[in-house]
Amino acid sequence: MASISLRTAEKSIEKIAQKPQCARALDWISSNTKWVTEQQIHLTEIPAPERQESQRAEYVNGILQHMGLRTRIDGVGNAIAERPGAGESVILLAAHLDTVFPADTDLKVKREGARLVVPGISDNGAGVAAMIGVARALSESPVRTGKTIVFAGDVGEEGEGNLRGIRALVEEYRSRLVAVIAVDGPSVEHVTVQGIASRRFEIVVRGPGGHSWSDFGGPNAITALARGIVEFSAVRVSDRPRSSFNFGVIEGGNSVNSIPSRAAVRVDLRSETESELARLEGALRQAMQTGVRQEADFTDSRADELELTFTSLGARPSGKLPEDSFLLETIREVDSFLGNRSRLERSSTDANVPLSLGIPAVALGGGGTGGGAHTTSEWYDPSGRALGLKRLYLITLALAGVLP
Ligand SMILES: [Zn+2]
Repeated sequence: MASISLRTAEKSIEKIAQKPQCARALDWISSNTKWVTEQQIHLTEIPAPERQESQRAEYVNGILQHMGLRTRIDGVGNAIAERPGAGESVILLAAHLDTVFPADTDLKVKREGARLVVPGISDNGAGVAAMIGVARALSESPVRTGKTIVFAGDVGEEGEGNLRGIRALVEEYRSRLVAVIAVDGPSVEHVTVQGIASRRFEIVVRGPGGHSWSDFGGPNAITALARGIVEFSAVRVSDRPRSSFNFGVIEGGNSVNSIPSRAAVRVDLRSETESELARLEGALRQAMQTGVRQEADFTDSRADELELTFTSLGARPSGKLPEDSFLLETIREVDSFLGNRSRLERSSTDANVPLSLGIPAVALGGGGTGGGAHTTSEWYDPSGRALGLKRLYLITLALAGVLP
């Protein structure tokens, strides 16, 4: 039965692709990938560290405005353009603007053969450019759609941004949202259907401090923190659901001959399920308390001489797209029509937020290939990017519904 329905569905994608306006848009994509790559280079060269995305947001809106779309910047800094459909329902294409690189990073794109090399070129220069490419293909050869298509360059996806951009978008369109596609990175080989839940904390231990010689024997904030870290590192982390932890940044102390009065560590916990994540957080809190107690016991100090605090640096909710979702079905139909093979994946992306609320969502790449994300040797190769653009264009149209 499934094969029959798939064949009918393929036909419907074929039907969309054969409509004269759509065929023209697909032709536009085939012969204009260079334009898309140029936009990608320009926008990647504009710095966009967390909380400093405004210049890149304005730039993206400028391009979308040029296509005749009405644009605006919302309260958190998202660049938004709406392409009105006949009805109220909304399909949201969101590509995050922010990068993990500080403002003074050298962002001049270098060419190495077919490759473009510069931090942020793939993650998420490739995604933002692909979203712009789809908008341009739609404006080059307009079709009437049943649903409104919203294009958004969103803020706060990386680092400690805590997904604030996509949270605001989902909040704003909530009642009208039918599906969300997060366009993130290059590639056409994956469909991210499951979010990974994460919680991040800064853990601080404070103590009396003192002189390394005359106060020797008193409680040491760094040692207390280290005891907690060792204690937690012995905790068994689940394979199923898959979970992980990372102590990523550690700091504390003022000089080599002073007992530190403060030590801090930043930790990232992740899991496929919220319940396992909660268990992990509980174990972390307990282990850090144990570390502080061990230090107090060992140094014969009063328990209240060391103070332990946890500060949340953000939490990402998780969720999973059901196997039988129309969104996944549509993507499979388009992949089958284009002869593209893709696999399902789990990752932490903008799609986490809608998925956690039961709104159908995926993260898809924008086409081409890339590597070295979050490193200064990040690269992108635009070869074959037309396939990624056509894939996104057809998925968007199939979801939005083409009117006669
Ligand atoms: Zn990304």
